[in-house]
Amino acid sequence: MTWEPAAHLNCPALLKKFHAQERSALHPTTIKRAISKTIKRPINKGKPSIPKTTSSASMPTIWLAPSAADILKIPILLNTPINTPHRDEWSCLLATAEYCTSVYNDTDAEGPPDGFQWLEGYQYSAMPPPSSEALAGCSCVGNCMMSGEYACQCILECVESQAPYDASGHMQHRPEQGVVYECNPNCSCAKNCGMKVAQHGRKVALQIFRCGGQKGWGVRALENIPQGTFVSKYAGEMMPSKLADWQAQTCDGAFLFSLDYFGESSTSGMSYVIDAKKFGNIARFFNHSCDPNMACYAMFLTTQTAEIHDLAFFTTRDVTAGEELTFSYFGNAAVGSKGKVSKAAGTVCLCGSAKCQKFVLMGGMA
Ligand SMILES: [Zn+2]
Ligand SMILES: [Zn+2]
Ligand SMILES: [Zn+2]
Repeated sequence: MTWEPAAHLNCPALLKKFHAQERSALHPTTIKRAISKTIKRPINKGKPSIPKTTSSASMPTIWLAPSAADILKIPILLNTPINTPHRDEWSCLLATAEYCTSVYNDTDAEGPPDGFQWLEGYQYSAMPPPSSEALAGCSCVGNCMMSGEYACQCILECVESQAPYDASGHMQHRPEQGVVYECNPNCSCAKNCGMKVAQHGRKVALQIFRCGGQKGWGVRALENIPQGTFVSKYAGEMMPSKLADWQAQTCDGAFLFSLDYFGESSTSGMSYVIDAKKFGNIARFFNHSCDPNMACYAMFLTTQTAEIHDLAFFTTRDVTAGEELTFSYFGNAAVGSKGKVSKAAGTVCLCGSAKCQKFVLMGGMA
């Protein structure tokens, strides 16, 4: 059913769903229903046959080729573009995406952004990579969530000394409550500790799609995603804000995200941004909405250096398959705002929500 090597099928949840759909598609009841809509065709051409049942005994045994809609569903199992111009370029780009990621464009001939390279981590420019050697780790055994009250040093660092996640790994805190600590490589707990969620990467299948009109690209869910689910980090090129400011004089700063959780009062006096224009992951394609279904959290995953925190998106309500994933470019009070250091400029908001403020600031936000 697919032209891709089995090794590339890295999405167990969707594979399971696909096989379930396949079984259901071959169920006699489904077929009987389909017969009324499709041209009946004899099977005896070496194709698999469907056993007759009493209910379908009066009908000819048939084999149904996948419908066009079914064919479109198959490649979403893979990191691959479907029905998309520049298919080969997208295939190369998505080869290193961390989970099921497809692209769909039936709107125009636009290809991937010029010179863009997929990156799930950070590229450091004009700054050294932060060291994780000095990270304070906890000394828990197994799952820190079971360590008992006040036992885990990492949980004690979190808001109100409470674990940010529930037992299913869903975010319980709001972004404005404080920075989220996860356990780190210097902790002695297990790899599957409940305080290690975002660091394990994206576990939801997403699709980059062409929105139509002036919206450009967007990202939609390919499965139902419960509230509080980790969606993605904001990956890209990390650099000092001063360099980004300078670049923004001449370049488009729309993909800059300020790491300003700790404000201007950081001890070193330095501040940094993540620029996803040239390097980045799926988060680069998230659109703004005035009524978003995700929020961006400041997190410490790989460092605990105040001005070099991570940014991670979690759903703020249940999201249904097919829905676009969005966040507010205005930021969440305490968390970095997108486009902050770009040239002060505004653009008409195209989010289309009932709460739309009609205008998105792309620069100059404090
Ligand atoms: Zn832990
Ligand atoms: Zn611990
Ligand atoms: Zn820990």
